[in-house]
Amino acid sequence: MTLRNIPPVEGLLQAAGELIHAYGRPLVTQAMRESLEAIRADVRAGADVPSNQAILALAESRLSAWTRSTLEPVINATGVIIHTNLGRAPLSKSAIEAMQAVSAGYSSLEFDMKTGKRGSRLVHAESVLQRLTGAEAAVVVNNNAAAILLALSALARGKRAIIARSQMIEIGGSFRVPDVMKQSGAKLVEVGSTNKVHPSDYEEALSETSGIRLSDSKSARASVVVRAHRSNFKIVGFTEEPSLKEICDLAHAHEAIVIDDLGSGTFFNVEKYGLTHEPTILESLAAGADVVTFSGDKLLGGPQAGIIIGKKALLDKIKKHPLARAVRADKTCLAGISATLQHYLKDEAEREVPIWRMISQTPESLKARAEHWQREITSGEVVPAESTVGGGSLPGENLPTYVLSLDIPKPDKFLAKLRQQSPAIIARTENDRVLFDPRTVLPEQDALLIETLKRILF
Ligand SMILES: *Cc1c(COP(=O)(O)O)cnc(C)c1O
Repeated sequence: MTLRNIPPVEGLLQAAGELIHAYGRPLVTQAMRESLEAIRADVRAGADVPSNQAILALAESRLSAWTRSTLEPVINATGVIIHTNLGRAPLSKSAIEAMQAVSAGYSSLEFDMKTGKRGSRLVHAESVLQRLTGAEAAVVVNNNAAAILLALSALARGKRAIIARSQMIEIGGSFRVPDVMKQSGAKLVEVGSTNKVHPSDYEEALSETSGIRLSDSKSARASVVVRAHRSNFKIVGFTEEPSLKEICDLAHAHEAIVIDDLGSGTFFNVEKYGLTHEPTILESLAAGADVVTFSGDKLLGGPQAGIIIGKKALLDKIKKHPLARAVRADKTCLAGISATLQHYLKDEAEREVPIWRMISQTPESLKARAEHWQREITSGEVVPAESTVGGGSLPGENLPTYVLSLDIPKPDKFLAKLRQQSPAIIARTENDRVLFDPRTVLPEQDALLIETLKRILF
């Protein structure tokens, strides 16, 4: 009997004008059907038929769940600066503006403004990269993984590609340097042992190549040496490897080229922040690397991109390779990368690029912010702790910081509750305490963080 008291979809839709305006008729109809289906099951199990208003509310909660983006902004209070799971580098104001400007309307992406004819998208970031690095040529692609695959496919296909065993790294998401080398069609030649590689190991592998029968063409003989940055781990103890300059000199003596995968790639010397030396982009070029690749969204602090710089003749081959089109950067990426690079050109990166602002914050200023949070929230204590650079750069390298530490009975439950907020707050726990590191919280998010914590704590 009661099942018959359930109102029909059509009748409910007549009262759902606002929902239809917000979500469109087809989706509202679907939400209504699913809600009624659930109600029917409840009624069969003995429940009463809810009011029309309650049914509309049920439908609305479905609609709001269906249309909520799963990709949403969060507040990063973890203290991990280049947090791969949280989208890596936050962008500078002018990078965001540049990306918005080219995406809101048309742009000169492939249009030569001088001649009014077809142009190339490759010129935009290339000019600033040439000026900044002194490299002969440059190309920007989708990400650094694509940069390596493209560079190797264009330069090492069918050739021997030499790499030290200690550099055959896995970066994460099952991206392994040796696999990518094979994928490119290069013949992988491993040299050295896990902990040590000597100049003579490279020498031997390079000479072997030169020993190929005379009938082979010169280009088929020439091999490629790959050096990959050990981004996410360290080898310590009984270790040795030649400097990049030694590797380049050896390779060039055997008419081989060197591709240096820097991973993060930095223009700054990070030692001034108390971190261990991270090879810089300019050092790689100065050492003689023919092609250097790095990410746009790690220590560079820009949007997701892969940057390839180096010798013109080699970059020409890379630009012409069929894969180049498949991994090319889009207009927003090119605009964002160019704007980010401008900060380095104008010597203002430390001030304008968020990740460098975070890295260069002093413990005193961080302490002052954590104390401000504590005073506002009237809870927890401010204690010394450590932030990390992250993003597979500078493994094991920490920066001294101060955090707000909350003593919460069930820390994991509290972390889950923080994730349900809008925006969600991502924090970390240590010894059963919940820690909030001001280093990675953008200053403009302070008020929101304080307000949210107050609301869920009291
Ligand atoms: C991070 C990293 C990559 C991959 O770069 P993405 O921009 O994430 O594609 C490749 N090589 C090294 C050494 C890296 O650290």
